[in-house]
Amino acid sequence: MNFSRRSSRHAVAVVALSAALGVAASALTGCSSAGATSDGKPNVVVGFYPQEFLATSIGGNDIHVTSVAQPGAEPHDMEITGKQVAKVTDAGLVIYIKGIMPALDNAVANNNSEHGLNLATVTTLKGGYKEIGQENGKAGKDPHIWLDPVLMKKMATAVGDRLVKIDKAHAATYKQNTATLIKKLDALDSAYKTGLANCERTSIVTTHNAFGYLAEQYGLTQVSIAGLSPDNEPSPQRMTEVKTFAQEHGVTTIFFEEAVNPKYAETIASEVGAQTAVLSPIEIAHKGEDYITIMQANLAALRKALGCS
Ligand SMILES: [Zn+2]
Repeated sequence: MNFSRRSSRHAVAVVALSAALGVAASALTGCSSAGATSDGKPNVVVGFYPQEFLATSIGGNDIHVTSVAQPGAEPHDMEITGKQVAKVTDAGLVIYIKGIMPALDNAVANNNSEHGLNLATVTTLKGGYKEIGQENGKAGKDPHIWLDPVLMKKMATAVGDRLVKIDKAHAATYKQNTATLIKKLDALDSAYKTGLANCERTSIVTTHNAFGYLAEQYGLTQVSIAGLSPDNEPSPQRMTEVKTFAQEHGVTTIFFEEAVNPKYAETIASEVGAQTAVLSPIEIAHKGEDYITIMQANLAALRKALGCS
C-alpha cells in the first residue's frame, strides 16, 4: 500500500483555466473544476487510513490521494504541517472524521469547508467512555465509526456520491467501485454476525476505547483501560475497575493494539490470569493488508477470546 503518496503537481494551468471559466461556471456546478491536477484528476486529501481505504477503493486511478497521517503513527491529536494545510486548501475533496485530528478539522473549516466531507455525519456520534467509570476518559463524542462495517457502508456511499459530484466524467466507475466495496462490507458484516452469534462470553477488555460501535452492532460489551485516545494514562482506580470487571466476567483476553505500548494490558492480564492479544483499531496502514483483511483478523481474535463456536 502506498501510504505516503503525495500529488505534487498543482498546475498553474488549472488555476488559470478556473479563473478564465470563472466563478459563474463553478457557481452553477458546485465544485466541479476545483482541486483538479494538470491531468484533470481530482486531488483528494484524506485524514488517516480508513478514509484512505475508502478513497482508493472508490476513486481508483481516477483520483490523486494524499494522506495527512504520518505512516505508522496513531492519528489521535496528530499535528499537520503547513504544506499539508496547503494541500487541504487546494483539494477538490477532503475526507475526514471530525474529532480525531483537530488540526485537520480546523484546516478544513478555515480553508476549504466547501470541499470537506466529514464522515462523522453519516451517523449520530455516541458519547465516549460510557461504560464503568468516567474519571479518566476525555469528554466528548466517540469518533471510531469505521470499526462498524455497517457504518463503513454508509461512509462508502458518502464518498462515492461526492466523487460522482466533483468528477462527473468518471461517475460510472465511482458508482461501480462503490457497489463493489459495499458488497465486500456486506460480506464482512455477515461474517461478524455469524461469527459472533454463539459465544461463551460477550465482554471485551481493550486498551483504547475504539470498539464501541463494533460492540454495539454485534451485541458485545466493551470496557477500555484508557479512554477514547490510546495514549491516555489510566488512573490506578481505573486499573482496579477494569481488573474487577475482567474477573467478574471471566475475561480470558486483554486486547491491546499495534501502535501503543501494551504495558497496561499486560499488567491487568497478569493480575487476572488472562492472555493478551492484538485487536486493531485500524488507525494506521498495515503493509500487505487492507481494512477488510484487518477486520477479518480482528474477528478471528474476538472469536478466540470469546469462545465462539
Ligand atoms: Zn482511536
